Amino acid sequence: MKPDLFEAPDYYNLDDLLTEEHKLVRTAARDWVKRDVSPIIEEAAQKAEFPKEIIKGLAEIGAFGPYIPEEYGGAGLDQISYGLIMQEIERGDSGVRSTASVQSSLVMYPIYKFGSETQRKKFLPKLASGEFMGCFGLTEPDHGSNPGGMVTNFKDKGNHYLLNGAKMWISNAPFADVAVVWAKDESGRIHGLLVERGMEGFSTPTTHNKWSLRASATGELIFDNVKIPKENLLPNKSGLGAPLMCLDSARFGIAWGAIGAAMDCYDTALRYAKEREQFDKPIGAFQLQQKKLAEMITEITKAQLLAWRLGTLRNEGKATSSQISMAKRNNVEMALKIARESRQILGGMGITGEYSIMRHMMNLESVITYEGTHDIHLLITGMDITGLNAFK
Ligand SMILES: Cc1cc2nc3c(=O)[nH]c(=O)nc-3n(C[C@H](O)[C@H](O)[C@H](O)COP(=O)(O)OP(=O)(O)OC[C@H]3O[C@@H](n4cnc5c(N)ncnc54)[C@H](O)[C@@H]3O)c2cc1C
Repeated sequence: MKPDLFEAPDYYNLDDLLTEEHKLVRTAARDWVKRDVSPIIEEAAQKAEFPKEIIKGLAEIGAFGPYIPEEYGGAGLDQISYGLIMQEIERGDSGVRSTASVQSSLVMYPIYKFGSETQRKKFLPKLASGEFMGCFGLTEPDHGSNPGGMVTNFKDKGNHYLLNGAKMWISNAPFADVAVVWAKDESGRIHGLLVERGMEGFSTPTTHNKWSLRASATGELIFDNVKIPKENLLPNKSGLGAPLMCLDSARFGIAWGAIGAAMDCYDTALRYAKEREQFDKPIGAFQLQQKKLAEMITEITKAQLLAWRLGTLRNEGKATSSQISMAKRNNVEMALKIARESRQILGGMGITGEYSIMRHMMNLESVITYEGTHDIHLLITGMDITGLNAFK
């Protein structure tokens, strides 16, 4: 792979809206990605292996629990810092960002928000340091966009719960030490359970043959009469709203992360367009290529503004789920379109692993589907503005 020459675009001087702390956090993440991710990520993706050696670095830049309070091992940062970290990581690879998103928003967040003090103390510091890795089991083979229909269930057996069912498409599953699993009790109410590796009847087979997020490990969670100690139930929230709150946090991170992937594609394409000559001049001098690049920077700038404003709303506790849906949907589609256009600017070279663009493009096909598909987020906006539910 070519050396990482990335320079971040900031067409509207958005840095002026950031604090010194935001910039420091972003620089640390950006430098780490250049040093430790860019040199190894292409090979990891080609081999379809999660590069475990980056776990320590992810923890060091605060990517595991950026906004979890320091007393539990988190970085105690605000939402914009969290977003910037996700942006920088996804600039390297969406699969690496997925690992960090799951750990932070889908594992640490529910333990912090809905867990007991004992659960917080037992799991959060180890998850923040990367000593423990976690995964989040909501999706099932027959219930993706409609997780409320889940069939995974547990029964109260007096001194423990008995868990049965299966989850699929679970990021980090193959190596996770702990899974936050959403399952129905005997009355049909959804609860979160902490399922630990080694529990009898619990297995995590790997999902193979992915053409997308190849540097992220994906797997199933299978529960065959797993005895869950009662203290492993998340006590402080139940119902579908609990996992949806986790998804709000993760989707917010994706809205920022997608900008990173888009910036990397744009920056690569811009540099290439200025260097590559055809018909005795740089291809960037042709109007058709300038149109592509000009539209890209316009869309990136709009996405940056959306993400920044959403970050301020989240910092004030005011962001709605629908606002988060809009940003996730817009920014991921924006990134995917930019990846496709950038790849064309590189001509044949665009399909090789010499450049990051094709990898970003394939990764973004998952990002546009997981954490609520593109269509589902549109329906969320539709429902919000009309007051009419088009899901059913
Ligand atoms: C690489 C990867 C990693 C993932 N990681 C995780 C994870 O860590 N944890 C987890 O729980 N899940 C995870 N997922 C699952 C992901 O969230 C689901 O794939 C997603 O929610 C969509 O579900 P589905 O694949 O079953 O598609 P379906 O729900 O079957 O949807 C298929 C199509 O139908 C459309 N559709 C569905 N319902 C409607 C409707 N009412 N109106 C109009 N169109 C509709 C959808 O938009 C989509 O285009 C991951 C997925 C991938 C690909």
